[in-house]
Amino acid sequence: MSAPTGPTRSPVATLLRVNRNRPEPVTGERCDMCAAPVGEEHQHVVNLESRGLMCCCRACYLLFTEDGARLRYRAVPERYLSFDGLPLSARTWDEFRIPVGLAFLFRNSAQERTVAFYPGPAGATESELPLDGWTTLVAAVPELAVVRPDVEALLVRRPGPGEDEGTASCHLVPIDACYELVGRLRTLWRGFDGGQEAHAAIDAFFERVRARSRPARPEPAAVEGSS
Ligand SMILES: [Zn+2]
Ligand SMILES: [Zn+2]
Repeated sequence: MSAPTGPTRSPVATLLRVNRNRPEPVTGERCDMCAAPVGEEHQHVVNLESRGLMCCCRACYLLFTEDGARLRYRAVPERYLSFDGLPLSARTWDEFRIPVGLAFLFRNSAQERTVAFYPGPAGATESELPLDGWTTLVAAVPELAVVRPDVEALLVRRPGPGEDEGTASCHLVPIDACYELVGRLRTLWRGFDGGQEAHAAIDAFFERVRARSRPARPEPAAVEGSS
């Protein structure tokens, strides 16, 4: 498989192509490294060169969990964290020009920059705009620095009608979860804003993410004395 080169090539496009080449029902799926059978629920590693995701058995996955290792593959962690009430102004959202009010951002270590993608009918689209507002925010919320490059993303969602305008729902999620969401939305997308089914899928996805997340920062001390 030869990936196209040139300025239009996007890592996510590569990744989605890789995923599309896989048969939909995952029964009988095998480890992309050692060919051992893996269950429907299995782990992934990112190929840092092609940016593709590879399905892995537990043993192969564990070979690539070392954060600092200079390896071509990096294991996708399984943690979910929530950053509640992230201050993200409506103006910053507008600057992002993300039509669906939903984006995921991650650090591309090969390009040494943060990239933002949003879902759409063609899969994931990279926001071409400078992410100055985001950089300012990250500087103001140091907890956001825990995101691991290449394998974890911050999934942010603009508040809906009736919700606090100046905040964003923000979760740290494994990068494969983002691609799963993008893949699902691609098949459901209708019209300009995605339509009802896509929005229902986004809601359901956020429900699951919320259920799996633990707070990124400790709750403000609610205990008085020792009990
Ligand atoms: Zn394996
Ligand atoms: Zn897989």
